[in-house]
Order: sequence, then C-alpha cells, then structure tokens
Amino acid sequence: FNVPIAVNEPVKSYAPGSPEREEVLKAYKEMFNSTVDVPMYINGKDVKTGNTRTMSPPHDHQHIVGTYHLAEKEHVEEAISTALEAREKWAAMPWEQRAGIFLKAAELIAGPYRAKINAATMIAQSKNIYQAEIDAACELIDFLRYNVQFMSDIYMDQPESTSDAWNRVEYRPLEGFTYAVTPFNFTAIAGNLPSCMALMGNVVVWKPSNNQIFSAKVIMDVFKEAGVPDGVINVVFGNPGMITDTILANPHFSGLHYTGSTPVFQSLWKQIGNNIENYKTYPRIVGETGGKDFIVAHKSAVAKQVATAITRGAFEFQGQKCSAASRAYVPSNLWEDVKKFVIEDLKTFKMGSPEDMGNFITAVINEGSFDKLAKYIDTAKTDKDAEIIAGGNYDKSKGYFIEPTVIVTTNPKYTTMVEELFGPVMTIYVYDENDFSETLKLVDGTSEYALTGAILSSCRYAVEEATKALQNSAGNFYINDKPTGAVVGQQPFGGARASGTNDKAGSSQNLLRWVSPRLIKETF
Ligand code: GLU
Repeated sequence: FNVPIAVNEPVKSYAPGSPEREEVLKAYKEMFNSTVDVPMYINGKDVKTGNTRTMSPPHDHQHIVGTYHLAEKEHVEEAISTALEAREKWAAMPWEQRAGIFLKAAELIAGPYRAKINAATMIAQSKNIYQAEIDAACELIDFLRYNVQFMSDIYMDQPESTSDAWNRVEYRPLEGFTYAVTPFNFTAIAGNLPSCMALMGNVVVWKPSNNQIFSAKVIMDVFKEAGVPDGVINVVFGNPGMITDTILANPHFSGLHYTGSTPVFQSLWKQIGNNIENYKTYPRIVGETGGKDFIVAHKSAVAKQVATAITRGAFEFQGQKCSAASRAYVPSNLWEDVKKFVIEDLKTFKMGSPEDMGNFITAVINEGSFDKLAKYIDTAKTDKDAEIIAGGNYDKSKGYFIEPTVIVTTNPKYTTMVEELFGPVMTIYVYDENDFSETLKLVDGTSEYALTGAILSSCRYAVEEATKALQNSAGNFYINDKPTGAVVGQQPFGGARASGTNDKAGSSQNLLRWVSPRLIKETF
C-alpha cells in the first residue's frame, strides 16, 4: 500500500491585491465582528456547561469575540469513558482508512478552511498573516501529510523472516486512552499533538490552552468534517489542574503528549510517577518544553548576517516560540557593525494589530505575559550591568504591546541571559573575539535548556569546534542561520535537558511513542 509522497504546502504570498489576502481579511472581519459560543466536544457532540469565559484578542483586549464553556469533573470523566468506548473500533480500523481521514483534514485546511484557520489564529494569538499562514495553514498541513508518510514507513518496517518462520510486527495503539495538552503559540502544534496520536490508532482527550480556544475550534471542525469518528478525539476546556488530576487518576491513562512550560511538564511527570502503580500500562510521556535559545557569532562571521539572525530569530512571532533566539554572543570585532544593523533593522519593524498587513510585531498573548516582560525590561533599565539599546517601551491600554527590546549586558549570567522570557526581548553579550572556545563553554553552561541554537561563522574550523562543544546544548542546531523556523519533513524539531524528551515533532520517532508493537512469530 502506497501513501501519497508528502510535500510541504507552499506558503502563499498575501501580496496586495492577491485573492488570498482579500479572503483572509474578509474572514478576519467576519470573525472579529461576531461572537461565537464555543462548546466542548465529547463523543461527537457539542457540550455546553453554561459555565463560560469570554475570549478577547490580545491586540484588543476589551473586545469580545466569543465565549467558551468550562468542564466540570463529570465532563472530563465522560470524555475519558467515551474515548475508551470508541477505542476498539478505531484501533481495528485499517490504518489506510485512518490515513485517509487525516489526509482529508490536510486538504480541508489547504482549501476551504485556510482563510478561516488563519483568521482565527490572527485573532486568538495575534499573529500577522504571514505568521498565521506559516503556522496554522502550512505547518499543520505538513504535520498531517508527513505523519501519514511516517506512519507508513513505520508499518513497513518489518523484521527478517526465514523459510520456517514468518516474523511480523503489529504496530498496535497504546492500550487505554491518551492525553494531549497543547500550547497557545502554535495552532499547528495544537492540531498535531492530538491528531498524530489518533492517527496511530489511539483515542484522545485534548486540552487546548485557554488562550487558543478560538482557533482550536476551527481545528476540531476540520477533524469532524474529515471524518474522525465520535469519541476518538474529545476536547475539554477549563481548569488545567482539575482536568489533569482527573485524567492522570484514571487507570487507563496511557500517554501524555505535551507542549508547554517546563514547570508544568515536570509537575505532570511527578504526578504520573506518584500514580504509577495504578496504571494498567506504563504511560508514554512526550514533552516539548522551554528554551533559552542562543546565537553565537564567530569573529569570521558577516556582521549583517549576525544582525539579521538576531532580529529575525528573536522577534518574529513576537518571540513567542520555544525556539526563539533570546541570548546572543557577539565577538568584539563585529560588535559596532552588528549593533548598527540591529538598530537599523528594528526601525523598520512596525508594531500594531495583525489585520494591518504591514505590522511585523503584534501583541503578546495575555496580561500575565505582558506584565512579566515589562518587569524584566524595567529591571534592565536600572541595572548597572545592562543597557537597553533598542525598544524598551510597552503599552497595554488597548492590546498587550511590547516593543522589540534589545538588552546588552556585561554580565554573561545576567538574568535575561539565563531565564526564559517567551517574548520579544533579546539579550546580547559581547565577548573578546579571541575567547571563542571559552565562550562556547559559557554558552553550554549558562542555561538548563537545550532546545535550539545557532553558530554563525565563515570559518569551517570554528563551525566544527562549535558543533562539537555545543553537542548537548541544543536539539536543533543551525549553522549560519537563525535558530527558528523548523519545517516539517526537513528539520524534525525538539530539544533535550529541560527543553523536553526530544521525541522530534514531525518524525517517525515521535509516532513510534504512540504504538505498542506486538511481535508475532509464526512457525511453519
Ligand atoms: N517549530 C518551531 C520553530 O522551529 C517552534 C515551535 C515551538 O515554539 O514550540 O521555530
């Protein structure tokens, strides 16, 4: 059986006058100016509890675009029991049929749902259209298509047989049900985590971030229309503590697929550990968590390229990427030029609402994030070992806007060189150009995280040295590029240390975590 060869979805241009631009702006206006009441989705049915919260765009926080319904414990229990009821039929469905459903989902997003999922992402997560297109349309389509290909590769991987014994592996789904916990920052991740487990034959309870429900609703509509049977993916909203406690207390819990913060992942892991004797099977735990992603420039690097890696790596998507560059190490010989180019480049970055297509920077996700970032910026304004060379202003009167901010520090262990900020703030440390090897040690020793990193250099020896010295410092390592923008099928994505279990999103390695293979030996 051959599945279609996966290809990356081409990114549309949204050039002035293009049909896609008209279409997405129309969808944006319609969705922005109406209100939607988002139910949970359990056993194929819309579930409204009457206990609701409002949803507002981060760039216009007084404006209400809808409400969503919060689960009580009984709804989570119901989601689990209906998932378990749906399991037998779903697991028995030929895998080609499951593939067909998710390939159809990809085509629905590529076609009729494209404007809608992009507009929803622009409204809910304040992404400009270029960011929304890359995330909610292309990356999600890519995940859905490539996962089918990876699944087929896995199923085809069979052991040797002999003339008197036929050996074969059945890649069975996990026994029980799985749990997907997804973040606000990528609509693609929100769609990928539950769907890739379901693709492998698992049944899922999915809890999207409360900041992403508006676009999660579109994903669920797509899955429904594509033919995901009732009970296979159930969506619950609300109090993360209660939902997680209920799920992890269930003896049939068999897998966690998580993207989000490091402390929450660690607490989930502990909770799973405490319950371990109650489970029927050892649960699979896959998590992608925080990052403190670096750029190191060697003295041979091209200053303009270093500056571009810094501004693009740190400020695209408002820095709200696990992979976003947030600390840079620039050699003294390049510093004056890099500084000049960074400041010049940032002058061209317009900030404002995402529906104005000229805005590069939009709002950060919520007030909590805004206040946290503002505090770091204020502290840097008064700290003796820090200087702000660009940005530094913020305003939450209408939306949560933080200017792209560059801090330069004389202390390589300055707070913002070490802690994850998850926003448009970059810190630069200028090192003596002759201290490259020492600086590499510093890069490795500064952070508990190991997600992404980049070396910029025109010297091959320096590239080689950095690649070796930083072998444990980043799960995704980029040479002469920024450390962001992994493309499904090209750069499988994930990190180690406090950044996660490194079960690369967009790879067969990840999908293998969601099966429990049975080896069958048949003797003739
Ligand atoms: N895959 C994205 C990138 O390479 C980042 C995903 C994330 O933020 O979790 O930029």
